[in-house]
Amino acid sequence: MGDMIDLVGLDRAELAAEVAVLGEKPFRAKQLWHWIYNRGATDFAQMTTLSRSLQEKLAQHYRLGRPTVSRQQISADGTRKWLLAFKDGNEAETVYIPEEDRGAVCLSSQVGCTLTCRFCHTGTQLLVRNLTASEIVGQFLVARDAFGEWPSPDDGGRLLSNIVLMGMGEPLFNYDNVAKALKIVMDGEGIAVSKRRITLSTSGVVPMIRRCGEELAVNLAISLHAVRDDLRDELMPINRKYPLAELMRALRDYPTNNARRITFEYVMLKGINDSLADARELIRLVDGIPAKFNLIPFNKWPGVSFDCSDRKVIERFSDELFNAGYSAPIRQPRGSDILAACGQLKSDSARARLTRVKEREAAGIVDEHHPAQ
Ligand code: SAH
Ligand code: SF4
Repeated sequence: MGDMIDLVGLDRAELAAEVAVLGEKPFRAKQLWHWIYNRGATDFAQMTTLSRSLQEKLAQHYRLGRPTVSRQQISADGTRKWLLAFKDGNEAETVYIPEEDRGAVCLSSQVGCTLTCRFCHTGTQLLVRNLTASEIVGQFLVARDAFGEWPSPDDGGRLLSNIVLMGMGEPLFNYDNVAKALKIVMDGEGIAVSKRRITLSTSGVVPMIRRCGEELAVNLAISLHAVRDDLRDELMPINRKYPLAELMRALRDYPTNNARRITFEYVMLKGINDSLADARELIRLVDGIPAKFNLIPFNKWPGVSFDCSDRKVIERFSDELFNAGYSAPIRQPRGSDILAACGQLKSDSARARLTRVKEREAAGIVDEHHPAQ
């Protein structure tokens, strides 16, 4: 059972190949695509345009996988967070953020994260693996299931209108699976979320930014957080590999225009990166790039030593950017009562595992694969 092929996450060519293996006509692939991604079918028996015998044949060989919901939490502000379990028992979180006339689904690209940014809770998770295209698309399917938003409504009338790759993980370290998943969700005959409504957030994996621009051309958000290499090296280890000058060079080549600007995310850390001199340097740094800013009040999590800048300081920083001609809203923290805000995601299974590791260390038992540091 466990190794049946999952049709969710196959691209059109792969789906066509499976249909051919069954000896079925090519148009069956188109029908399957419609049922899976436009209608949200979870069972082959729902596919009423297919004969009973074909439904049964499909059920013998394939699954229509969804991650299982281990837990759903709903915030006072309507934000929802799902802890999802995949086939191997690993977990990741998916968040839905409602807004007045739309809503964004925040997808994870990895279990944990390859990187260890010092202000980010996900970065403390021990276990890391890439999510498959099926698992990435599956997160969106689960969110749509929760709101019963099937078949895919017209763009404009959707609760789940936008997608942000801002959950757990660094999407550009899992480029192939992320790209495959995004092509599936962008397909006009299925989930049909347009590239203009998708934003990929990266800590700055320079070589993959170019491919992302050429092949996906989704909106890009860059987690900048510091304007000097010495500080960024310390906050975000990836900067040692791809320093600011290289990052900026890659961004100048990204497909943008005035309507499609690059978003620079900037987490406001008290006394660390929040001075007016920092704001001015930021303006200098992005010169020549169609840019906008998103100032993120730092979200605390248990055990972190940073503090969020004072509101007045954030407003002053925002004004400085605004006066230089940039949009620089302060991000409204959403779902903080359920730890669903930026940088707070971390799956419970990993939390439990970390507790176990700490207990073992305290008892003097050192795991030879993860020696205590
Ligand atoms: N790995 C990608 C995608 C995660 S996006 C990236 O880093 O861009 C999550 C956003 O929240 C990033 O901008 C990240 O830097 C920011 N973030 C991380 N920890 C945070 C925290 N504790 N408070 C506020 N924002 C945080
Ligand atoms: Fe990973 Fe992004 Fe968190 Fe850094 S901020 S540890 S890249 S999820």
